[in-house]
Amino acid sequence: MNFYQVRLAGIAVIFFLLLSTTNLLFHSPEWDVPILGDLEENTACKQSVCTIPTTSSKLPTTFPIYTRDSSERKWIALTFDDGPDDRFTPKILNILRREKVQATFFVSGKQIRKNPTVLKRIAREGHLLGNHFENHQDLRKIPTEAVIQELRETDRLVYELTKKRMGLVRPPFGAMDTRIKQIAANHGTKMVFWSVDPKDWTGRTSEQIIRDIKKKTRAGDIILLHAAGGWDSLHGTVSALPEIIRYYKNKGYRFVTVDQLLQIPGYLTK
Ligand SMILES: [Zn+2]
Repeated sequence: MNFYQVRLAGIAVIFFLLLSTTNLLFHSPEWDVPILGDLEENTACKQSVCTIPTTSSKLPTTFPIYTRDSSERKWIALTFDDGPDDRFTPKILNILRREKVQATFFVSGKQIRKNPTVLKRIAREGHLLGNHFENHQDLRKIPTEAVIQELRETDRLVYELTKKRMGLVRPPFGAMDTRIKQIAANHGTKMVFWSVDPKDWTGRTSEQIIRDIKKKTRAGDIILLHAAGGWDSLHGTVSALPEIIRYYKNKGYRFVTVDQLLQIPGYLTK
């Protein structure tokens, strides 16, 4: 072997050692349970409840992922992700209070730490809190221990401020794989996605958001909106909200939190 071949071999050995150490560090036996049956990865399933069989004795026999309610009730759930912040979330809360409507907020730990009083206000005004993990990153790309930490830390913060244990989770970007589902199931939580996405965070105007929602929303739908973000583009959401609410109320619809819509517990009792 010449000098370059020796150096290449050396790099390969170091790389291999690093890989095995990482695996050892993050491979916790607690999570060493069979992988769940395959569901189309990284997308919300197309049915209202996707039930994935589990084979672990530690888990219930199925793990559901909810996207909408299939009953004929004229109920709709508004959900707001990525908050709380001190710009858009309070405005959204003001509108909901004025319209006497309850919604669901999937909150992230990073934002709670910056805006604890807004988080408390969400709970105090009767809205449901769901876990949107701590740092809003693609959970598929981080080690298992870090995913668990993201989930638990957000839970801990909400519990500290509201004495409530969140029973529902929604992974950032809806990005998930069998490992993420397994972690959520082990944690005793249910996963809630959505069925209507007007992509409000892309800077759409209120007219565009309203048109899109009116075109797509039926009884039982879960609408995805945002209450915060690293962008300057939720003005459309805030101005669209009153009209969306009044339009559906006038048609005899009722706005409910996702636990009411799906008839599942929003908070854990343990
Ligand atoms: Zn998000």
